[in-house]
Amino acid sequence: SSSPPPPQHVALFAFPFGTHVAPLHALARALASAAPEAIFSFISTPETFTPLPQTSGNLRLIPFEGGMLDAGSSAGVLDRIGKFLAAAPEKIGAAVKTAKANAGGVPVSCVVSDAFMWMAESTAEEMRVPWIALFSAFTLSILTHIHTDDLRSHFGIEEEAMAAHADEPLDFIPGLAAMRVRDLPEGIIHGGTNTNFSVHLRRMGQRLPRAAAVVLPTLAAFEQDLFVYGKLNLPLLIGPLNLLSPTTPISDKEHCLPWLDSYASSSVAYVAFGTVAFLPPAELAELAHGLEDSGVPFLWSIKKDLRSGLPDGFEERTRLRGKLVSWAPQVPVLSHPAVGVFVSHCGWNSTLESISAGVVMLCKPIFADQRMVARAMEEMLGVGRYFDDVITREGFVTAVDGIMRGIDGKRMRERVKKVREKTVEAMLPGGRLSENFNVLVELVRGR
Ligand code: UDP
Repeated sequence: SSSPPPPQHVALFAFPFGTHVAPLHALARALASAAPEAIFSFISTPETFTPLPQTSGNLRLIPFEGGMLDAGSSAGVLDRIGKFLAAAPEKIGAAVKTAKANAGGVPVSCVVSDAFMWMAESTAEEMRVPWIALFSAFTLSILTHIHTDDLRSHFGIEEEAMAAHADEPLDFIPGLAAMRVRDLPEGIIHGGTNTNFSVHLRRMGQRLPRAAAVVLPTLAAFEQDLFVYGKLNLPLLIGPLNLLSPTTPISDKEHCLPWLDSYASSSVAYVAFGTVAFLPPAELAELAHGLEDSGVPFLWSIKKDLRSGLPDGFEERTRLRGKLVSWAPQVPVLSHPAVGVFVSHCGWNSTLESISAGVVMLCKPIFADQRMVARAMEEMLGVGRYFDDVITREGFVTAVDGIMRGIDGKRMRERVKKVREKTVEAMLPGGRLSENFNVLVELVRGR
């Protein structure tokens, strides 16, 4: 009689910067519960494990070995990313061995990585196992990476290209018709095409077509024209990770949720700019003035060290209807009935959380894929207003007013409910987002 085959062993490699670890971990949790017989080794830098929800059983945390981040915490994030990426191929190889040892000798049978960790493909290839990438940035922004060279040859590069073509549409690339040159992420045609990180992302765009599958967490609204991902072997659009892997309980150390309880339905502006983007100081002050002048109650997630940029006396004057916190439990905050608008930088995680809670957005994108997200929310889905100019207090008051009290806001709220419903539906058994997730589960199970 033959012995049973060893279990499947999935190694997942995180990109330990910005909000990249949480989405991969959410995917890992969803896969681990869908395939309880398989082993999942989640590999990242040790400090990124602290905020992750507890897991048990078949999902293990494996730290990359030391020396990754020795550029020091005072070094700029791009320096630290550069050091990390330079060391990554070797560390990925070492981590595969650690994961195997930790799993009682069961070899890795599938590699899943953040798309930014595309170097994991070489390791997968050496082991002759499939490589699956998670692209957790904005769905359509993957097209700008896959088509970087086409965009460059069409428009040229650097600031001359931007100056000459800023308002032109990207309609010669299927899927990008609603986008303009000015909405492109930095590093595609402008904003430093030769930096280490831009080169890294261009190579990502070249490598992704080799992935067995590319997983894209998204809204049902983006599940239509799949031919736009034609260069990819298997684009798997799945639902927002906050819906796929809900976490409980979420700590609310600064009491945001009880504070929201005392406000009427859809009356509060929730303000947050994610974990890496910062408003320029002048705009931060104008935003504060605008919140004050608007009279709208607000909950603002803003780190203590940024508060020195607020206007003198701002906190005292707005104390009765404004609350500043260093960190909000954003998912339950957005689901709270009192929240009527999300003033956001349009990071993709924040955007998915907002739309899947049925909250409209006032979009103030800062960099990377955020302008494309803002454009998509305004132009494609009609669930947000893209604040395209520099923030002024008057401009902000007008924008907030239009959303909270105007007819535009009413229409946006009707549309966001539909976008949300369609997404929730597509995640039910038989729905397309759900079917795609099932395909992914079978793939990591080796079927
Ligand atoms: N977030 C949060 N509380 C805060 C600020 C942010 O929970 O006070 C979370 C938010 O829910 C989201 C993530 O941080 O999941 C930010 O991710 P996103 O992709 O929007 O932005 P990034 O941090 O990558 O710029």
